[in-house]
Amino acid sequence: MVTDDSRRLIPRTDRLMELPAVRHARQRLNDRVVRSLIHTVQSEARSGSLSPGDVESAVVAAVESTGSLQPVLNATGIVVHTNLGRAPLSSGAVNALIAASGYVDVELDLTTGRRSGRGAAARAALLNACPAAEDALVVNNGAAALVLATTALAGGAGVVISRGELIEIGAGFRLPELIESTGARLHEVGTTNRTHVDDYAEALGSNAGCLLKVHPSNFRITGFAASVSVRQLRPLADAHGVPLVVDIGSGLLAPDPRLPDEPDFASVLDAGADIAIASGDKLLGGPQAGLILGTRKAVSRLARHPLARALRADKLTLAALEATVVGQSTPTELSLAGDAGRLRVRAERLAAPVGAEVVEHDGRVGGGGAPGVPLAGHAIALPESVAPFLRTGNPAVLPRVHDGVCLVDLRCIPENDDERLGNAIAAALHEQAVGSRES
Ligand SMILES: *Cc1c(COP(=O)(O)O)cnc(C)c1O
Repeated sequence: MVTDDSRRLIPRTDRLMELPAVRHARQRLNDRVVRSLIHTVQSEARSGSLSPGDVESAVVAAVESTGSLQPVLNATGIVVHTNLGRAPLSSGAVNALIAASGYVDVELDLTTGRRSGRGAAARAALLNACPAAEDALVVNNGAAALVLATTALAGGAGVVISRGELIEIGAGFRLPELIESTGARLHEVGTTNRTHVDDYAEALGSNAGCLLKVHPSNFRITGFAASVSVRQLRPLADAHGVPLVVDIGSGLLAPDPRLPDEPDFASVLDAGADIAIASGDKLLGGPQAGLILGTRKAVSRLARHPLARALRADKLTLAALEATVVGQSTPTELSLAGDAGRLRVRAERLAAPVGAEVVEHDGRVGGGGAPGVPLAGHAIALPESVAPFLRTGNPAVLPRVHDGVCLVDLRCIPENDDERLGNAIAAALHEQAVGSRES
């Protein structure tokens, strides 16, 4: 029963607005938002689902958890984790983002005072890093790059693609549907496991607008399989006068010996692609972006298409991308390079105080890159029931839960976060112990 007396105990809005933690949150939240959070908590107390004595702490919790995406320590060992926003930005890219957040010369030449090409600096950085490309264009993401390339180059004619490359990229989005969504027609050739040069040749005889090759980045076909390389497709494209577009997926600028099956811009362009496409926030380690590198002629056809305006990258992306390409090793690069011995030393240092065990644990590239390539390392093994407490702790930690064990892999955690991680593990173990005593 909620009595009038207990209702009178519910703290008033003005008092709650002045609580120190609420005043602090009001530096980033406006009064309308704060009052609305307060009113929600007060009505819970009026309805009896919250005791008046808990109103203050509930309001503080509500304002503190409102506002932004929450930073997470990625303890999964998966370097490019789609659910965690893929690549974390380098400090250089973060600084560039902040610098670009005000007025900037994104489309202006300050020496002449005239309008300039948008994102000229990001374009120059990409061309400098990948001399095999004559021109570059940056759009919103990899999917946008693919839609723009196939729409601008194929027009109403067919996009010729192998059945082995009709992939789903995640969250139910399928490349074939994406391409067809703008009116392009797909002309599928070959079979799921085997496609030959002749299959392409046959298709190119009829109304073909472009040849598309997609790196099947998130799965592998092994066994009785065959596909046609970019180098083999080049003469076919020439013979039929159609452009050759290659979606490499992950955005390596040059070959990486650790990832031998992962295509890269330089090799694909050398092999004869007119257009190569990748995401900016996978192995390149930059912001979400669609990178389009290729011949001057093909890139300019894309840049002039009306869709290019709808898909263009914003100034923040351009700034962070440029800083990523010209900067030092990205966090993604450092995580990939994480040394198994060093990961073990760090894991043991954190495991010892809580009496946990360290086990061998392979990390993954993730983000649909290099499926099946293990990254040798180590993880702290904790009881599975600790995982929810790690996720909801401060800082939030995302472990990997596998075979009934909660694994904390340090590969993707910068070493200077080890102390925070250690504290988070101790706190989560404590909460879990309290929880199991109470139940
Ligand atoms: C990831 C990926 C895409 C989609 O790129 P987004 O940047 O996520 O839009 C397209 N093609 C391939 C081969 C990919 O790996």
